[in-house]
Amino acid sequence: MNPTQFNSQEESLDPADWSELRSLAHRMVDDMITNMETIAERPVWQPIPEEVKHSLDQPLPRQPQGAEAAYQDFLTNILPHPMGNSHPRFWGWVVGTAAPLGVLGELLAATMNPNLGGGDHVANYVEHQVINWIKQLFGFPIESSGLLVSGGSMANLVGLTVARNSVVDFDLRKEGLQECNDRLVCYASVETHSSIQKAVELLGLGGNYLRQLPVNNAFQLDIEALEGTIKADRAAGLRPFLVIGNAGTVNSGAYDDLNKIADICQRESLWFHVDGAFGAAAAISPTLKPLVSGMERADSMIFDLHKWLYTPFEAGCVLVRNEAAHRQAFSLTPDYLEHTASGLAAGAPWFSDYGVQLSRGFRALKVWLMFKAYGTEKLSRQIQQNADQARYLEKRVVQTPELELLAPVSLNIVCFRYKTADLDDKALNALNRALLVQLHESGVAAPSYTTLDGKYALRVCIINHRTRREDLDLLVEEVVRLGKNVQT
Ligand SMILES: *Cc1c(COP(=O)(O)O)cnc(C)c1O
Repeated sequence: MNPTQFNSQEESLDPADWSELRSLAHRMVDDMITNMETIAERPVWQPIPEEVKHSLDQPLPRQPQGAEAAYQDFLTNILPHPMGNSHPRFWGWVVGTAAPLGVLGELLAATMNPNLGGGDHVANYVEHQVINWIKQLFGFPIESSGLLVSGGSMANLVGLTVARNSVVDFDLRKEGLQECNDRLVCYASVETHSSIQKAVELLGLGGNYLRQLPVNNAFQLDIEALEGTIKADRAAGLRPFLVIGNAGTVNSGAYDDLNKIADICQRESLWFHVDGAFGAAAAISPTLKPLVSGMERADSMIFDLHKWLYTPFEAGCVLVRNEAAHRQAFSLTPDYLEHTASGLAAGAPWFSDYGVQLSRGFRALKVWLMFKAYGTEKLSRQIQQNADQARYLEKRVVQTPELELLAPVSLNIVCFRYKTADLDDKALNALNRALLVQLHESGVAAPSYTTLDGKYALRVCIINHRTRREDLDLLVEEVVRLGKNVQT
């Protein structure tokens, strides 16, 4: 066999005919732009038809179907059945609505397809740039460190790992908690997100040692309870080491008094971690910024770009004030990952030294594009608009006799329920539960739910750049209409 014959049998996943792929790609882009442009004309969400589920329960394909046919199946079976979070009337959980430019950023990032574990290539500089911008946004010192991660859960895990490893006086990475004579205790309000508990469990600290403290009427951490519990734990021979403050709780959007918590942490020598998954975004708006006062004093904090910064999933961020402590918690450099002074393996610090992942995608690019294209001015107006919409909905709820507001609106979350005088809480819970399912199935709007003081609430979390006031008017009308007719 001569070399040319040999080569002619080799293939790649590149198309034989690039012009064919180009025209398919143009169609894909056109279809996706149209999809975003016309999103408001479709239902927010609809149950998935059985035949679609069946189409997604097939054996592994052996024979190639071809790009064209595979794309056709996407158009038929996948695209028409979205979660709904791109729709202007989606306000469920804390699920963001991607900006179209961020969507295109994913295409650019995937085309370059770098690995941001480390090395001297431009993508790593983009991530450093983005992290430095985020530090500036939140008033963190430039010497602090940061990392983009999949989301808030991973960011909390990274931040809490650094906290845990920094407070002990032995090499925790070597000895694990086996060597720890102290029982380490952390503190947070009952309103704290479940990802904090997961992190505490994963770190071997034990869920029982996360003190879930009471909140006041505004759902903020009760400072007296915090001080009292720390004192009692010390008296019992335990070792308090970490307080988690919330900048925007998941249920009602409450902001803990971060300055008071920071004062306590300073006085008691405790690590101060802030979960600002969505609520830290308030820092971007000059008028909302006072809400996060004290956040800049944290030892570590987290923020989700895929929530209230309107980037597509996934993109979260963790910042750590003490860069060395951050690196010491994660840096591990086997021979095959040695960082060199020059060449492709240079470019220290490597991001893989600051987190769990070695291979890391270019999620920084979509964020970089959006910061550059919109500037903090436009992003700030967008966030302010959502906060104003929450105020507007609050007012509509208060003015509507059939509705009851269930929590103060601190920023962008409105919790309310349909109410009639003749029903008690138990019956109202059942009624509102059924009402919400009907609302979802109607395709008109998608709030989520929570329970506050035993009362089942419809929960509207507005981090949606497409929402207009008319959308909220429609929500109010529909809830009242359904409430009058709902059978439980
Ligand atoms: C969403 C959220 C998290 C978890 O973030 P993910 O990006 O979903 O992993 C943590 N804390 C709060 C307050 C959140 O709202």
